[in-house]
This record gives sequence, structure tokens and C-alpha cells, in this order.
Amino acid sequence: MAEETIFSKIIRKEIPADVVYQDDLVTAFRDINPRAPSHVLIIPNKLIPTTNDVEAEDELVMGRLFTVAKKIAIEEGIAEDGYRLIVNCNPHGGQEVYHIHMHLVGGRPLGPMLLS
Ligand code: AMP
Repeated sequence: MAEETIFSKIIRKEIPADVVYQDDLVTAFRDINPRAPSHVLIIPNKLIPTTNDVEAEDELVMGRLFTVAKKIAIEEGIAEDGYRLIVNCNPHGGQEVYHIHMHLVGGRPLGPMLLS
């Protein structure tokens, strides 16, 4: 069994977070350390630690991450100008929290994606 993270507590509303969307499959909340004017994390309610752990049965929830990202981008008013969706995996990917999360980042020009 994978270890729960703080994100499971956010899903269950056991700790405070600025939740902007929740349904049966996913939860979205503002990043506590925003790197841009809009920075929202969209996560599966099911604990899937990394993209290496995604199975065929998870395809519906993985797709939901994208449709909810689109909806939030429209609500944030950043859809037309554009934004970036990021999913980090494991140490080389810079992953800090081992519960898959899609970063929705926008609200300013983000520049080229860095591979440093
Ligand atoms: P990553 O490096 O892709 O694992 O990103 C983890 C993200 O989770 C970081 O951007 C953190 O700022 C964010 N984060 C960690 N704890 C919380 C929290 N309690 N509420 C909101 N965002 C958080």
C-alpha cells in the first residue's frame, strides 16, 4: 500500500486548503507556494503516487485531470493567453509530494520550459 500524503487529508477536508473544485474523481486546490498568478494543483482522489503507478483502469481519472484543468483555466481567465500543465515524477522530475498532481500554472508569460 502506498503511503498517504498531506494531499489525502486535503481531499478529505481534514486540513484547510483553498479548494476550487472537487468531484467524485478529482480535487483541485491552490498551491500553497504559487509560482505564478494562477497556480492550482489538480489531483486524483485515489492515491496514485507517481505517473509510474498509473494503470489502464486509471484512464478515466487521468483524463478528468485535463478536463478539470481546462475548466479552471477558463474560470481563472487564463485559457486564451495560455498556461502550462506540469506533472513531475520522482526525484529527477522534481516530485516532492508522492500523490500524483497536475500543476496548472499561468497568468503571466512563463517563458521556455527549462531542462536544467
Ligand atoms: P511537486 O514538486 O511537483 O511534488 O509539487 C508539490 C507542490 O505541492 C509544491 O508546488 C508545493 O508548494 C505544493 N504543496 C505542498 N503542500 C501543500 C499544501 N498543504 N497545500 C497546497 N499546496 C501544497
